[in-house]
Amino acid sequence: MNVEVILKTKGADVTTISSSDTLASAVTLLCDKKIGAVVVVDDGRVRGILSERDIIKSINIAGSEAMDLPVAQVMTANVITCTRSDTLDQLMDAMTGGRFRHIPVIEDDKLIGIVSIGDVVKHRIAETEMEAEQLRLYIASG
Ligand code: AMP
Repeated sequence: MNVEVILKTKGADVTTISSSDTLASAVTLLCDKKIGAVVVVDDGRVRGILSERDIIKSINIAGSEAMDLPVAQVMTANVITCTRSDTLDQLMDAMTGGRFRHIPVIEDDKLIGIVSIGDVVKHRIAETEMEAEQLRLYIASG
């Protein structure tokens, strides 16, 4: 199982924000879309990622004034990305090792999707169930 299969199921839709937008607008976006992170894109290029954790950290430091900060000041600029051909195991290693739950998918410098830990778990369960079913059929046929 690889990223290509996940994108076929969930599509290429990615919620993005500009680095000059405020945290207040990021909060509205995350709430409206019911998601945990947005990819920061300026002029078609990925500049960073902003997750609910980054926002909580900022509020802890600056209180409600954090809402006026630009996304650029709060986002993680060093984004770990993946490609269509990366496997589920590679994504799980990256998420576990980096302690994050979102990985944007890049192709030819363009953002073509995003995979969350929820997508990874969902597809891992489906894969395991399929393998178990195949084993059951194999045993029953013997
Ligand atoms: P998350 O678990 O995705 O809510 O993110 C936890 C922390 O990791 C936040 O500081 C995010 O900005 C950061 N983060 C999320 N995704 C990535 C990624 N793909 N590459 C690097 N940092 C990330």
